[in-house]
Amino acid sequence: MEKQVNNFEDKLRDNSLKLTGPRQCILNYLACNRDKHLTADDIHRLLLQNDEKVGIATVYRTLALLEKLELINGIYLEDGCVRYQLMDTKEKHEHHHLICEKCNRIIDMQDDLLERLERQVNEKYGFCVKNHKVKLYGICKECGQMKD
Ligand SMILES: [Zn+2]
Ligand SMILES: [Zn+2]
Repeated sequence: MEKQVNNFEDKLRDNSLKLTGPRQCILNYLACNRDKHLTADDIHRLLLQNDEKVGIATVYRTLALLEKLELINGIYLEDGCVRYQLMDTKEKHEHHHLICEKCNRIIDMQDDLLERLERQVNEKYGFCVKNHKVKLYGICKECGQMKD
C-alpha cells in the first residue's frame, strides 16, 4: 500500500501535480476498496465519516483528474452515475464488468477472453486494439436463484 501511494506520487509528479490531501485520501479509499466500484457520492461519504472536510465538487474534480492520468478507471452506467475503481497496473487491459440488471451489482471479470477477437480484428481490419471496455448486462447468480 505504501509503495502504491509512492507510485501515484510519481505519476502525479510526472504531470507537475502534487499529491494533495484530498487526492491522497481518495486514492487510499479506492486502494482499500479494490473489489468495489465507488461513486463520487460514496467517496464523499467516506471522507465525511473520517472527518475530512472535502467538498463534493473537489471529489468530482479529483476523480476526473485521476481518471485522466489513468490512475483510476471510470465505469459509465446508464443511470448516469460513474463508478470508480483503482487501475490495476498489472492488467494489460481494463477488466470487464458484469452488471446485474436486478440488484445493480457490478462484478469484476478477471478473464480477458477477447484476445482471439482482437487478433481477428487485427487480421481482418488491420486495426490494432489497444484497449477495450466491456460491460455485459444480465442477471447475477444470487438474483437468478431468487424465487418470487
Ligand atoms: Zn443481482
Ligand atoms: Zn471493476
